[in-house]
Amino acid sequence: MKGLYVHIPFCEHICHYCDFVKRVPKNQEMIDTYLHALRLEIESYRDHFESIETIYIGGGTPSMLSTLQLEYLLEGLKDIKPVEYTIEVNPESYTDDKGIIFKQYGINRISLGVQTFDQKLLEYLNRKHTKAQVVHAVNHLKSLGIGKISIDLIYAIPGQTIEQLDVDLKAIEALDITHVSCYSLILEEKTYFYHQYLRGKFEQMDEDTEATMYQKVMDDLKRQGFHHYEISNYAKKGHVSLHNLIYWTLGDYIGVGLGAHGFIRGIRTYNHHSLPKYLENPMERNEIQDQTMMLQDELIFGLRKMEGVSLKMIRDKYHIDVLKHYPKLLEKMELGLIEIEDDHLKLTAKGIFLGNQVFMVFI
Ligand code: SF4
Repeated sequence: MKGLYVHIPFCEHICHYCDFVKRVPKNQEMIDTYLHALRLEIESYRDHFESIETIYIGGGTPSMLSTLQLEYLLEGLKDIKPVEYTIEVNPESYTDDKGIIFKQYGINRISLGVQTFDQKLLEYLNRKHTKAQVVHAVNHLKSLGIGKISIDLIYAIPGQTIEQLDVDLKAIEALDITHVSCYSLILEEKTYFYHQYLRGKFEQMDEDTEATMYQKVMDDLKRQGFHHYEISNYAKKGHVSLHNLIYWTLGDYIGVGLGAHGFIRGIRTYNHHSLPKYLENPMERNEIQDQTMMLQDELIFGLRKMEGVSLKMIRDKYHIDVLKHYPKLLEKMELGLIEIEDDHLKLTAKGIFLGNQVFMVFI
């Protein structure tokens, strides 16, 4: 499989926890200029179009583009015929017109940035939508025949209670969607929350409550019929994210847009993070080929999948015995964090909560 990631680095406002490559645009011309450069970069990959099987338009907030801007972008991608075609949508910028455009251009999967259905917590995160907007977007997309809908949830928000999380999970159930990505709130540098933290005004949730919440998410989504296939991802039957699987199995993908990265035939590509530099030359990128980094990624991404990482694949591809190459893994095995099953190295039920302790072995 080969994927294409397209980055739209603009947001209408900045969420307090976010450290993605994004900015609030100065005006519409800035977005138009960016899209023009992006189309040039997309076009430079035309030789790959036939082999691309997944497209993922992410951000930032791709749904904040106007209908004209959306059409302009999607025109540049229309000669690609992917099996999975995803766009990230924020509920407040979704309109029926945009849904119709998604449908016209073959988009068949939506990743909806919900985070929580609790209005007070949404305000705390500096999110601007309402639950009613989420419900409207989901229902309208379904009426258009776009039934593959993923919702992003955040848990372990400071001040959040188990009862509030329960309400979120019930709201997910009522929406009858196909996929959930559920992450705990992480304190990232260069975010509003981090500055609050430095001033002593942000207190992270304690680890025990966070672990209880994670267990609740896993149990509840399982009860709803979701398969837990990656540490933070859950899918109904036949609805795993093919595009994300490409990342987690170190498959080939092209990354276009500001700060985007790609991975093609063992070479990582990195685009500029600076908008003026990207606009000056959208085709300029750094390339790095590093076997050690590849092996690290293979093991860390592989262990994030519930099925684990195939030891045979590692032996064949890197000519190493993982346990000999990383002797500290034996300690983690003794601590009950990892196990080997069917020649796959995987996290145990205990290890899922403490994955970072295992991943540190590879860094
Ligand atoms: S979380 Fe999404 S919408 Fe919020 S600032 Fe980050 S990219 Fe923009």
